[in-house]
Amino acid sequence: MAVRVYNTLTRKKEDFVPVRSDITGFYLCGPTVYDYFHIGNARAFIVFDVVRRYLVHRGFPVRFVMNLTDIDDKIIKRANEQGVDSQVIAQRYIIAFFEDIQKLGIRPADVYPRATQHVQDIIDLIQQLFDRGYAYEAGGDVFYDISKFTKYAQLSGKKLDQLQVGARIAVDRRKHNAMDFVLWKASKPREPKWKSPWGEGRPGWHIECSAMSMKYLGETIDFHAGGQDLVFPHHENEIAQSEGATGKQFVKYWLHNGFLDIHGEKMAKSLGNFVLARGLVKGYPGTAIRLFFLQKHYRSPIDFTEEGLDAAVTSVQRLAIAFSRIKEIAGASMPVPDAASLAGMDRQQAFFATLQQHQQEIEAAMDDDFNTPAAIGKVFDFIREVNRYIEAGVDQEMDRMLVALARLYLEEVNEYLGIFEEENAAVDRKKVDGVVQIVLNLRKKFRAERDYALADRIRDELAAAGIVVEDVPGGSEWRWDLAKK
Ligand code: AMP
Ligand code: ZN
Repeated sequence: MAVRVYNTLTRKKEDFVPVRSDITGFYLCGPTVYDYFHIGNARAFIVFDVVRRYLVHRGFPVRFVMNLTDIDDKIIKRANEQGVDSQVIAQRYIIAFFEDIQKLGIRPADVYPRATQHVQDIIDLIQQLFDRGYAYEAGGDVFYDISKFTKYAQLSGKKLDQLQVGARIAVDRRKHNAMDFVLWKASKPREPKWKSPWGEGRPGWHIECSAMSMKYLGETIDFHAGGQDLVFPHHENEIAQSEGATGKQFVKYWLHNGFLDIHGEKMAKSLGNFVLARGLVKGYPGTAIRLFFLQKHYRSPIDFTEEGLDAAVTSVQRLAIAFSRIKEIAGASMPVPDAASLAGMDRQQAFFATLQQHQQEIEAAMDDDFNTPAAIGKVFDFIREVNRYIEAGVDQEMDRMLVALARLYLEEVNEYLGIFEEENAAVDRKKVDGVVQIVLNLRKKFRAERDYALADRIRDELAAAGIVVEDVPGGSEWRWDLAKK
């Protein structure tokens, strides 16, 4: 069976047919490194980590490229506020990015190109756009003329005339069309700058992804992914730039993840309603955070709640316990090779068939546009079946060989889902709660005795340990401090 993917460009599910046989190109728009990333960003990184790993599991030679936007208005602003070079800010958050994705069990990309290290490639691409009549200069800025690209807005399906009307307010008078976007920005004081045929300046954001994706993956790329907010204008502009320059199709399959919402709103830095991944990994294991996201389809919205995360913690614990038991029973036994070796053993043969069927169903779910919630549901069914078999008795070597087969299948599944690493032992909120309640009872006693200094100290020390205490009528409650870095 083929892997089927929902393509934003065609608005339907299609069989994945690779562009070429030597590499399967996958480009994911990465973070702008001016701050720690939040868990909305983490959703994009996690779901496409799974998509990538699944494609590898299905035998595609994936080359995974993720850019790091290390030059941008927000980075410059922060650098100027702190009186440091913008690369100091970028480096700081690139290091933090690598630390955080590791805790989330995200595999490193094959290449992490940075914009500042590809300025010449970007200039060359802009030059190509000039040569082909898509770019024009105005006062040291270079713009893309969208009226020259007839396929503009095909990805987002937006109506160009509506866009132009919407953009009428505050339109730069130098632009030929309201929706023309910047390829190269003339330098302003206190900004990093590079020499170019159009004077000193720096690259725009969209051109960076066109230049770097094509440099590492070729002119036509299999997959290009990011959050839904990137469909317009970022990905639309990338298509206009790349196809304008090469005359070839830029990307075959466009994949976009749904938003992580909080209290019914998109989680975003600009809205101030974000939870940093850095804080969350202090209180929750990466496996639980992954499971929390993967229990929803990657294109659907998810609401972030602590209850949801706590439930995921319980689930990954169940998985971890079941998996280590399976490993223990399998021991050094080799997986049973095929049904024929079980001739005459009815119970074993039936179990073999059950294992195979579950394994196929898990893959069928993943083949269907990476339906991780369905696949995870089947993983739980699978484990239930194995437990049932174990409970009924595993006395023969053949039984252990079957459990070893179950172990092999689970290891294969975990290779792309990454939800039951044992070493990532789950934090048991219930156990922590037992201890915190003892401390809170002591604090209550001190308060009753009017020893407020000691009571406050207990609260502050819990806060330093990442536990927020709130006094409510009739007692106190605690929760993880999710903003803690
Ligand atoms: P940024 O650093 O804002 O460019 O975002 C990095 C990646 O995270 C992009 O693919 C965004 O589309 C994605 N993203 C940002 N906010 C959210 C959110 N609330 N939910 C899901 N994905 C998001
Ligand atoms: Zn991008």
